[in-house]
Amino acid sequence: MPSYVNPDKCDGCKALDKTACQYICPNDLMVLDKDKMKAYNRDVSMCWECYNCVKICPTQAIEVRGYADFVPLGASVTPLRSTDSIMWTVKFRNGTLKRFKFPIRKTPEGSAVPDGGFKTTGNLNSLDLFTEPESLGLPEVFRLGGKESANA
Ligand code: SF4
Ligand code: SF4
Repeated sequence: MPSYVNPDKCDGCKALDKTACQYICPNDLMVLDKDKMKAYNRDVSMCWECYNCVKICPTQAIEVRGYADFVPLGASVTPLRSTDSIMWTVKFRNGTLKRFKFPIRKTPEGSAVPDGGFKTTGNLNSLDLFTEPESLGLPEVFRLGGKESANA
């Protein structure tokens, strides 16, 4: 379900050096067409559907669209940010609207602890996730076919 920029709503972030969607995309997908001053997703097949660009866009120009074979066209989910929450508007295909408000995290920028205090192996070849096995409360990760934790 890649992101899609509605060109009617995008104002190119008013010609800032880097647009908000370019700043936030973890996969560096958003591009600004400087002639038209409209942003677009340059490779939808690489989109992680993380919703970062959708949430940060100041003009609510970005939506994440489901593929038509399993999400009916015409539906949308639009966030509106405030200082302490996001108001999500869910529009169903039949026109029904539902809204819900969700509080945002208050952690100051840059203060998040990526490992949550758990021990990490730092071994990128391991099949274990970043903080396993400690965050599972186990001495090691057991797998089918053997108890190897694939830390080699
Ligand atoms: S953040 Fe929104 S308004 Fe700014 S360039 Fe991206 S799509 Fe356009
Ligand atoms: S949904 Fe996430 S990965 Fe996809 S374009 Fe937006 S910020 Fe990038």
